[in-house]
Amino acid sequence: MKIIMLGAPGAGKGTQAKLLADHYGLPHISTGDIFRYNLKMGTELGKKAKTYMDAGALVPDELTVDLVLDRLAKEDCQSGYILDGFPRTMNQARKLSEALGKDGEIDFAVNIEVPDDAIIERMAGRRVCPSCGASYHIVNIPPKKEGICDRCGAALIQRDDDREETVKKRLTVYHDQTQPLIDYYKGLGREIDIDGTRTMEQVFAQITEKLGD
Ligand code: AMP
Repeated sequence: MKIIMLGAPGAGKGTQAKLLADHYGLPHISTGDIFRYNLKMGTELGKKAKTYMDAGALVPDELTVDLVLDRLAKEDCQSGYILDGFPRTMNQARKLSEALGKDGEIDFAVNIEVPDDAIIERMAGRRVCPSCGASYHIVNIPPKKEGICDRCGAALIQRDDDREETVKKRLTVYHDQTQPLIDYYKGLGREIDIDGTRTMEQVFAQITEKLGD
């Protein structure tokens, strides 16, 4: 099963993608995580991506599309995957469709809907583990010990791109560049709408109900 996650930054795509990857036994491929990993490792790609990420802008398609298509060609992706954060532009969506071919198109585009004001509130409380990638929210999904990752014990941080001004910029980018993908996948008959304002468990239940076991 090939699944892509749509929705504004902070809608809960990453959290649900991880849960779905565990549930269906599929690899979770997050372009944001790939860029952050490269940034941490100080690679050329990481350095190039950082300027865009810090500004709340999208990394150019030239740096993104081949990276993802190469990853999807790997052995572990042959029975499916959960693609989180890609495609994010119409050009990326078309390139993905071209690479998959008519008979290999993704099965579901899961569109997690959350209003902008709720997103801004959520992002302000989001904390991530720089070491293992786990994500938390100071109110909704607090770690057992404040500021410390439950999984690996590292100190949690707020991502630079979760700051309020950057979040607002990212929402504008989302509405301009990513929202048109909803109609694209609707046209292909693959899009499903999910109410993302519920709890993590309820959102997960809505998705699996539509995707089936
Ligand atoms: P995310 O963790 O998915 O919110 O991604 C963090 C940042 O990485 C985004 O704000 C973009 O700057 C960059 N990024 C992630 N995925 C893509 C993509 N498909 N196209 C362009 N930029 C991306």
